Amino acid sequence: MNKPVYLDYNATTPVDARVLERMLPYFTEKFGNAASRTHRMGWVAEQAVKTARENVAKFINCSEQEIVFTSGSTEAINLAMKGVWEIYRSKGDHIVTVQTEHKAVLDTCKELESKGAKVTYLPVDREGRIDLNELEASITDKTILVAVMFANNETGLIHPMKKISEIVHEKASLLLCDATQAAGKIPVDVQEEGIDLLCLSAHKVYGPKGVGALYVRRKDPRVTLHPLLHGGGHERGLRSGTLNVPGIVGFGRALEIAEEELWSDAERISKLRTLLEQQLIELGNVYVNGAIRDRLSNVSNLCFMGIKADGLITKLPDLCVSTGSACTSAIPEPSHVLSAMGLKPEQALASVRFSLGKYTTFDEITFTLEAIKNALISLKKD
Ligand code: PLP
Repeated sequence: MNKPVYLDYNATTPVDARVLERMLPYFTEKFGNAASRTHRMGWVAEQAVKTARENVAKFINCSEQEIVFTSGSTEAINLAMKGVWEIYRSKGDHIVTVQTEHKAVLDTCKELESKGAKVTYLPVDREGRIDLNELEASITDKTILVAVMFANNETGLIHPMKKISEIVHEKASLLLCDATQAAGKIPVDVQEEGIDLLCLSAHKVYGPKGVGALYVRRKDPRVTLHPLLHGGGHERGLRSGTLNVPGIVGFGRALEIAEEELWSDAERISKLRTLLEQQLIELGNVYVNGAIRDRLSNVSNLCFMGIKADGLITKLPDLCVSTGSACTSAIPEPSHVLSAMGLKPEQALASVRFSLGKYTTFDEITFTLEAIKNALISLKKD
């Protein structure tokens, strides 16, 4: 077993060796620019991007023309939200989202508010769920966009996207879904769920960092966006800039593998998660934050009552996990997700997110349990 033990797969994942193998030639002998139309090197790169685009489209059940490659989910979210705002604001100035969204969505909402948008931030209950009646009531004839994530990065809670899309479409608005954490862990099908805009990120699915995609629906309804970047007109004018060919190739391969191995990985990981969670709960004063049902099988967000998670983690140098706090300042701030769920600051600051992945082993979980038990004993002595 290698140390440190990595249980922070929701933050990022290692690149699968099969993904890296597929990418490598595109750094060296196949280094062409996918936009070079006049020679073979360009065509090879263009063909590789086409194959990857097919992989991404197949993964979420859409057509290739509906995929825009980006640098990741943050960019995809910015393109979707700012792009909708620019085109649709003559129809309305209202956006609906949820308090527990990722900062990529929440900070973009703040930016749009500074430009005149009115944003409703829906509250969640103790389990992290939104009230669908409240969602319905919040949408007005001025609502141009509703942004709800598929699965939460901190707690793993899965939102009922199909029900949400029915409500949003009934009110003739558009639905943006951040599927960054759901992808590779549960099926993500834009037709089945009725999603209009959806973002994905390669580094959460054993692909490289710095590449992702935005799905933009072309039919029923056709969604039009204003681009963030200008210059060159790549990606049908929606995202100018030379394509990151090796990254895109890796992203496509990563999704191909994720599609094949989703169920077997999820079943194995879920057993390890249950083992870890139950044994930690048995220690006493340890509680699961959020829903137990409708949760990604790899996440366990636990509150260690009466303990400061930062202090606990300091005693665990061989373990990579994340705390229920935002590290944007020197003073830890309670996580906005846990706070929105009604946890008191001391409960949020006592919380640790364990996120397992496809390389997590039984031995690593055993090691983690031992290490945490010892750290808790040591903290009590301090
Ligand atoms: N949305 C969610 C739910 C995430 O977990 C993340 C990554 O932490 C992002 C968006 C941002 O993704 P990226 O790193 O590709 O910009």
